[in-house]
Amino acid sequence: MLNVPSQSFPAPSSQQRVASGGRSKVPLKQGRSLMDWIRLTKSGKDLTGLKGRLIEVTEEELKKHNKKDDCWICIRGFVYNVSPYMEYHPGGEDELMRAAGSDGTDLFDQVHRWVNYESMLKECLVGRMAIKPAVSKGLSHEVEEDFSVRVVENVGKIEIVLKKKETTSWKRLGHPLENHNSLIPRKDTGLYYRKCQLISKEGVTHDTKLFCLMLPPSAHLQVPTGQHVYLKLTITGTEIVKPYTPVSDFLLSEFKEPVLLNNKYIYFLIKVYPDGLFTPELDHLQIGDSVSVSNPEGNFKTSQFQELEDLFLLAAGTGFTPMAKILNYALTNIPSLRKVKLMFFNKTEDDIIWRSQLEKLAFKDKRFDVEFVLSAPTSEWNGKRGHISPALLSEFLKRSLDKSKVLICICGPTPFTEQGIRLLHELNFSKDEIHSFTA
Ligand code: FAD
Ligand code: NAD
Repeated sequence: MLNVPSQSFPAPSSQQRVASGGRSKVPLKQGRSLMDWIRLTKSGKDLTGLKGRLIEVTEEELKKHNKKDDCWICIRGFVYNVSPYMEYHPGGEDELMRAAGSDGTDLFDQVHRWVNYESMLKECLVGRMAIKPAVSKGLSHEVEEDFSVRVVENVGKIEIVLKKKETTSWKRLGHPLENHNSLIPRKDTGLYYRKCQLISKEGVTHDTKLFCLMLPPSAHLQVPTGQHVYLKLTITGTEIVKPYTPVSDFLLSEFKEPVLLNNKYIYFLIKVYPDGLFTPELDHLQIGDSVSVSNPEGNFKTSQFQELEDLFLLAAGTGFTPMAKILNYALTNIPSLRKVKLMFFNKTEDDIIWRSQLEKLAFKDKRFDVEFVLSAPTSEWNGKRGHISPALLSEFLKRSLDKSKVLICICGPTPFTEQGIRLLHELNFSKDEIHSFTA
């Protein structure tokens, strides 16, 4: 709880209540100070009216919420229900209403650039704006629907090859469309979903399957190493969204073809929980059915690998999924790398994803080692046993050189990851040396 006297702060004559000139501020009512607002946001009250659910907001939907008692505003791609905030706004209700039901980014940037609305209005967040796919065409002649996109991730180059429908010479290329020649930072773009088709589903362990989805024609989606996407299905009339980390179709495919042209397929290793909400539905899909796939998100950057010498991966269960691409990336692109070690925690031998592939990789590449740790093994298991522990970690995390540059990636069930991070700090690894994966 915040220990602030409610009615007297700020004082009725304070600068926080009345502007001293310049930008107009309106006197706020008693009990409507910034501190009162913070107290309200921490009270647990449902300020959006959506009971904590986040939705994707279309422009049409946004426009409908344009009244004082039902006022939604979009700021940098995020939509907030600002009705509860009206009386607390130092600029007054009328000023907020200027942006009602619309994009208020410019208005907020002009007047309150220094205010961190993302944080102030966190509890009012309704969701993100849905992005409309481009419909108008700017080219002067028709091109084939199927075009290729080549992304060279490490130099940031994107090459798009369009094929003319007719082999005539074009007098001009066409006319530029809105947003031509502009770059939109990824944080400012909303989540955009494309409908993908289920192409195949193949058992990997008794409960984990490799799902292959095909992107719609001409769509390009390259998910950066260590990042995830959201899959969306409508389950009994409600849209349900869960995060998943794509993998390559098999562990070493990227060794054969480092830059994949025209990625048409996206692969997921997904564990089906019989009593889960999402995965049984996904498992019941027929080949040819569709699943919506979002653009990528995530806090992992391959720049964390720069000059890296030792990479340690701690994965539990499907927490292995981000490690699959990380392994590929590190072993192919990081010349300074001396050692990559994966400690893979599972309940039983039958739960280990891609065991033989990992063992083959360890055999083929001397820099790579894998250790399996089982929490519920049979009596025949000769390997390591138990849960993540100081003893297991201190033995495993040996640097190849005294001061070698090290990165430890950890992913699995939340208690596993939390406990792991705590133990790593106890072993004196710094924050910069640890990466955990979150949605
Ligand atoms: P849920 O309905 O969430 O249930 C899962 C299990 O938990 C069930 O056994 C259920 O009975 C139990 N459970 C549910 N609620 C409770 C409760 N309150 N108390 C106790 N038990 C409960 N998964 C993958 O398989 N592959 C991936 O690549 C992958 N990537 C991910 C990436 C990120 C960034 C994150 C955050 C998660 C990822 N996951 C991945 C997990 C995935 O998002 C889902 O959480 C998972 O598929 C379970 O979804 P579900 O709706 O089927 O199950
Ligand atoms: P699981 O239940 O099969 O457990 C695998 C291992 O995790 C166990 O053998 C044990 O060693 C460890 N473990 C489990 N519970 C633990 C606890 N309470 N304390 C310490 N260790 C524990 O795992 P699963 O069903 O495959 O679940 C995988 C988890 O990974 C899910 O929660 C999923 O959401 C998460 N995940 C996260 C990401 C991400 O990017 N954030 C990606 C994939 C999966």
